[in-house]
Amino acid sequence: MAERAEIVEPQTRVNLLGLSQAGLEDFFAQIGEKRFRAVQVLKWIHQMGADNFDAMTNISKNLRAKLQQVAQIKAPQVLQQLDSADGTRKFLLQVAGGNAIETVFIPDGERGTLCVSSQVGCSLDCSFCATGKQGFNRDLSAAEIIGQVWIAARSFGQLRAGGPRRITNVVMMGMGEPLLNFDNVVDAMNLMMHDNCYGISKRRVTLSTSGVVPALDRLGAVTDVCLAISLHAPNDELRNQLVPINRKYPIAMLLQSAQRYIEGLPDNHRKITIEYTLIDQVNDRPQHARELAQLLKHVPVKINLIPFNPFAQSDYRRVSNTALRNFQSILMQAGFTTTVRTTRGDDIDAACGQLAGSVNDRTRRSERYRARAAAGLEPQPLRFVAR
Ligand code: SAH
Ligand code: SF4
Repeated sequence: MAERAEIVEPQTRVNLLGLSQAGLEDFFAQIGEKRFRAVQVLKWIHQMGADNFDAMTNISKNLRAKLQQVAQIKAPQVLQQLDSADGTRKFLLQVAGGNAIETVFIPDGERGTLCVSSQVGCSLDCSFCATGKQGFNRDLSAAEIIGQVWIAARSFGQLRAGGPRRITNVVMMGMGEPLLNFDNVVDAMNLMMHDNCYGISKRRVTLSTSGVVPALDRLGAVTDVCLAISLHAPNDELRNQLVPINRKYPIAMLLQSAQRYIEGLPDNHRKITIEYTLIDQVNDRPQHARELAQLLKHVPVKINLIPFNPFAQSDYRRVSNTALRNFQSILMQAGFTTTVRTTRGDDIDAACGQLAGSVNDRTRRSERYRARAAAGLEPQPLRFVAR
């Protein structure tokens, strides 16, 4: 497990943001201090939102000065915060190396779900995904992953005594394939669930994967979060086209691995979420729904249908409402809990698969948005909060 300290600019200062409690304990031992300081600092960072050591009043002035010399608390830089009329909030974040990533908060009644990125870009090149189109750039560090939660929580005033608890759920469904950045993702998810940090229940943290089977086989040994499988097709022939990694790890292998994971959890009543992005005329036919029902007959699943979100570099079209309802009702009649993910944050391009390609891309989109708004084609003006 990666309990290592991340060295960032300036080279000698350790970034404490991504360190687990054990990692922090080691850090304090290394600098000749008591290990129990780890819990104090962990709480300051993740429960009180501290970004410097001055605020840490239960730590002596001397130690604070020492920490200032050797350590830092460094999150990605917020380039933009966009608030949609429907309450969706999107962050555009600058990470080391000049890259930008996105994090999206989606409120839904009592629930507030944060959609977190794990990589800059993605190497798996699914045919319907905007992130895939930009290729792979690099893995995010644990600090950059937990930093997304920290930034969003701070933006809601959640990280102070009595602050509102807006983020109730986290889904690893932003940019990137989480299982290809295994250690950093696991470390960050463990911080999300840690009682001294965000305390989010393991039933409310979900890792979504397109099917990196060897990594999925290792997951159960290190975490017990919920699992979502991005299936998108009921047979290998079609899935090979949509999700290229299927050629390496076909459906049967993937479902068996997912089932092993879910059955290995201590509370083994949990179900695998099956994500199925519906693309017009590609995978949305009634025979696909019937085939899917057959495929999943003996697997403990709930199914989440996602209407395809179109983007510039793709010729695919969104599923029609009729095909969507029909698809859903075939699955429901076959006895599956089947939900439809509604698109949120349309006015800020916050939907799945629309997460930023590049800042240039985004600039063009904003221009497109402004042009549409000026022409009266957008329902609400974009509220832009500069940081
Ligand atoms: N790499 C992981 C997690 C990130 S993708 C995975 O593939 O599961 C998160 C979800 O968004 C996946 O289910 C993915 O298939 C879906 N998605 C990607 N592009 C989309 C698009 N254009 N429209 C709708 N869903 C999309
Ligand atoms: Fe990568 Fe997921 Fe997009 Fe596929 S859907 S390219 S795995 S981010």
